[in-house]
Amino acid sequence: MTTTYDPSDPKYYEESDLREELGRVFELCHGCRMCFNYCDSFPMLFNFVDSKDQQHADLTPSEQDAVVDACFGCKICYVKCPYIPPHEWALDFPRLMLRAQAVRTTQHQREIRSRVTDQVLARTDMVGTVNQALSAVVNPIVSRPNTGIRRAMEKVAGVSSQRLLPSYGKVRFSRWFKDRLPRFIASPRASVSIFPTCFIEYMAPQIGADVTTVYESQDIVCSLPEGVKCCGAPWLHQGNVAEFTRQARANVERLDEVVQQGRDIIVSQPTCAY
Ligand code: SF4
Ligand code: SF4
Repeated sequence: MTTTYDPSDPKYYEESDLREELGRVFELCHGCRMCFNYCDSFPMLFNFVDSKDQQHADLTPSEQDAVVDACFGCKICYVKCPYIPPHEWALDFPRLMLRAQAVRTTQHQREIRSRVTDQVLARTDMVGTVNQALSAVVNPIVSRPNTGIRRAMEKVAGVSSQRLLPSYGKVRFSRWFKDRLPRFIASPRASVSIFPTCFIEYMAPQIGADVTTVYESQDIVCSLPEGVKCCGAPWLHQGNVAEFTRQARANVERLDEVVQQGRDIIVSQPTCAY
């Protein structure tokens, strides 16, 4: 059993090693139970153990997988857990769930529908470009749950018809930024570059506009970094570490140029900043 959260560790993708590590961590969580009300993962884990009337978190592989699937990566449990590294127990629950997803992805264990859906939805710049351009048609579909078309989407792509999905902006944030009349700043205090993120670029440009207005009102010059794309988090969340790394590396190279020019990077989406 190897406690590792590093995808470059040779043991990271070994399924038997992972299963033992899941057992170790589930045992610790079952004894602690502090995270019982954060999400579905923990109650499911505790119910599996309690229903067997046993002391140890001896889950079957499919029960382990169900706990992994119920985690949506919010990281609240990481923030609250007293046993995160460098504690001797080195418990990082969200990163262990990510390791489990990565093992499943590299071993092609996911069902074909979720593989196709993940491949499409992870291309957020492509999806965002199309859907924003067609926002007049797309918005009524995504913003109304439980309609016939949403139920069809659920059958085809597995996206819950009950889920409220964000709608798309009338104009992209980068378009708004370029078309606006920037505030004249006689004596700039600083210079920043706003990494727009897909959500702000395609869905919520008003947030980016507000960020720009606040910074400029404080005599801080705003610009946009050239050539950046989606942060790659959707690849990471599905356990595709290789694709995530490729995308993140390209962004970091672009953003590094900006930093070398003396500008700070502003990211208003926590996941994308992470
Ligand atoms: S993640 Fe940490 S705090 Fe949460 S139940 Fe497990 S051991 Fe307890
Ligand atoms: S990171 Fe996952 S397991 Fe932890 S609280 Fe969030 S959803 Fe639950």
